Amino acid sequence: MDYPIHKILNNTFGYKEFRLDQEEIINNVLAGNDSLVIMPTGGGKSLCFQIPALAKSGLTLVVSPLIALMNDQVSALKQLNVKAAALHSNTDIGEKNSVFQAIQNKRLDLLYVSPEKLSTPNFLQYLSTIDVTLFAIDEAHCVSIWGNDFRPEYVKLKILKKQFPKTPLIALTATADKATQEDIKKQLGISDSKTFLSSFERKNISVEARPGLKRIEQIIRFIQKSPDESGIIYCLSKKSCETVEKKLKDYKINAAYYHAGMSSEERNLIQRRFQDDDIQVICATIAFGMGIDKPNIRWVIHYNMPKNVEGYYQEIGRGGRDGEKARALLFYSWADMTMLQRFVDESNASFEFKKVQSAKLDRIWQYSNTLNCRTNFILNYFGEYRSDPCGHCDNCLNPPKFIDGTQYTQMALSAIIRSNEKIGINLLIDVLRGSQKQEIRNQRLDQIKTFGVGRMIPTSHWHYYINQMISQGIIQIDFSDYSRLKKTPLSADVLKNKTKIQLAEFVKREKAKPPKIEKLDLDYTGIDKDLFQKLRTWRASIAKAKGVPAFTVFHDKTLKQIAVSTPTSEIELLAIDGIGHAKLMNYGPALLEIITAHNG
Ligand code: ADP
Ligand code: ZN
Repeated sequence: MDYPIHKILNNTFGYKEFRLDQEEIINNVLAGNDSLVIMPTGGGKSLCFQIPALAKSGLTLVVSPLIALMNDQVSALKQLNVKAAALHSNTDIGEKNSVFQAIQNKRLDLLYVSPEKLSTPNFLQYLSTIDVTLFAIDEAHCVSIWGNDFRPEYVKLKILKKQFPKTPLIALTATADKATQEDIKKQLGISDSKTFLSSFERKNISVEARPGLKRIEQIIRFIQKSPDESGIIYCLSKKSCETVEKKLKDYKINAAYYHAGMSSEERNLIQRRFQDDDIQVICATIAFGMGIDKPNIRWVIHYNMPKNVEGYYQEIGRGGRDGEKARALLFYSWADMTMLQRFVDESNASFEFKKVQSAKLDRIWQYSNTLNCRTNFILNYFGEYRSDPCGHCDNCLNPPKFIDGTQYTQMALSAIIRSNEKIGINLLIDVLRGSQKQEIRNQRLDQIKTFGVGRMIPTSHWHYYINQMISQGIIQIDFSDYSRLKKTPLSADVLKNKTKIQLAEFVKREKAKPPKIEKLDLDYTGIDKDLFQKLRTWRASIAKAKGVPAFTVFHDKTLKQIAVSTPTSEIELLAIDGIGHAKLMNYGPALLEIITAHNG
C-alpha cells in the first residue's frame, strides 16, 4: 500500500526530510504494529503519531500528562490546518460538545486526552463505538516505577491493549534506561512491539560540569556572555528558586521564578511569557519543563545536582530543540548529594525502590565527577555503547591535565585519621589550610600535626582534589555518620607510598585559555539581522493577536532561514524548512510584504 507520508511531511508540516527513525516508525505504525519509541527531547517524536493520524481515516488518540503541553500541540496543529482537539479537566462543556460532534461527523484526526479522562469507564465505552485507528502514549516512562516520573494514573492505561487488542499503540519517551524500557512494554501490554532507540546524542548541546562553588557569580558571568538568549536554571527547592531569581535581578537580568508553591494561573503566566521571549531566564524546580515546548532555549543550568541521570538528560534536552547550539552547565556538591540521599532515605517508598534511587544517585555523582567524555557516560547509561569521544563536552574540549597528587592525598588522609575520622569535607579543608575558625579551636583541631600543611592550596582546589580522592575510592564519605570522611582499604598503601595517585589539575576557569566552551556560537552566517528582527517583531504581533505561542507561528530557525535567503516568491518560501501549504497561505503574503519593504 502506498501511504503518502512524504507528501504529508512536505505539504502539511513544511519539512523536507524525515529525521532519525521517523520514517521507519511511521511505517511500523501504519502496518498496524505496536511500537516503543525512545528518542531524545527535540528529536521529533510527535510526527511519529501525527503523520499516521493524517495518513489514515479514523481518530488517533493521544495521551499526554500535561494540559499545557496538549494545548500547545493542538494550537500548533490548528495552525497547520490539522483537525485536532483536546479533552481534559479544563475543557468547558461547550467545547466538549463540539469535540464529540466533530468525532461523530468524522471531522477530527487527533484527540489529545489526559490519562484520567481516558481510563474512565464511560469514555472507554464510548471509544468502542467509534473508529479509533491509533493510540499514542506520550511521556510513556510515567507508566513505570523504574522511570523518572512515575504517575499512578498512567498505570490504568494497561486497559487499552486489553480492550482494543487490534488497535496499534505507540508509546513514546525521551527518557528510559534499559530496565524502564522493558517495564513500559510490560505495563502497556506491548511486549512484542518493536523498540526504536534513536541515538541519544544531542550533538548541538555542549555539556559541562563544575564544582558548586560561588555559583551565583559563575552564573552571572555565564548569562552576561549570552545576553539575549533564553535559559532555565534548575534549583532543588522553592526557596532557592526565589533567591537565585532575586540575585539575578540585582544584576538587571530579566528573570522570574517558577515552582509548585505558586498558583497555576501564576505559573501559566510565567511560562507563557517565557515562551514569548518576554522573560529571559526562569529559575525553576523540576516542576517546570515537561509542558514546555520552546524551541529556542539556548542554555540550561543545574544550580543543584539532579537526582538521577534520566532527569538531568531530560532537563538539559529542553535546550536547543530547534537544532541550533545550546549549552548545559551542571553544578555539583557534596551538600546536594547529602540532601538528595536524605530525601531517598526519608521517603515512604519500599526498600527495593530506595535501593534503586540510591544507585541512580551514585551514578549522577559519578557523572558529575568523571574526567572522561560526558556524552559517552550518558549514552552508556542508556544502553547505547560508544567510546569515541564526542567533541562537545568540557572534558573533550579541554581535556584535564594530570598531576602527581600523591602528596596532597597523603595530607588529606593524615588529617582525616588524626582527627579520628570525625570531620566532613569543609572542616577537613579548614584543617589543611590552617583556618583560625572558632570551630577548629573548639575541637582542638589546630593541635594536630597536619594542621595548615596544605595552606598553599586554595579552598576551591582542595574541593576539586578531595572529590577526586573520593571518586577513586581512597577516601569515603559516610552518609550514615553526618557525611564525615573516613579512610578506606585503599588508604594504607597511599600513606605508605606504595601507590601513586594521579589527580586532574585544577584549572582556574578565567585563565584557562582559550575557554572554547564559553562562547555561544550561534550560526548567524549570512543573516540579515535587521530583517530577522523585523520578522520576530511581526511574529510576536501575530502570536498576540491569535493568542498562541510565538513558536507555533514560526520557529526562530524558519525566520532565520528567511533572513538568510530573503525569498521573493511563494515558490521560494515553500523551499524553506517549516513552511508548508497552510503556513504559506496564512502568512506568505505578509512575509513577502515585509521582505519587499525591507529590500526597499
Ligand atoms: P520531541 O517530542 O521528540 O521532543 P517534537 O516532536 O516536539 O520533539 O519535535 C521537535 C521539533 O522538531 C518540533 O518543532 C518539530 O516540528 C521539529 N521536527 C520534527 N521532525 C522534523 C523533521 N523531519 N524536519 C524538521 N523539523 C522537524
Ligand atoms: Zn565528550
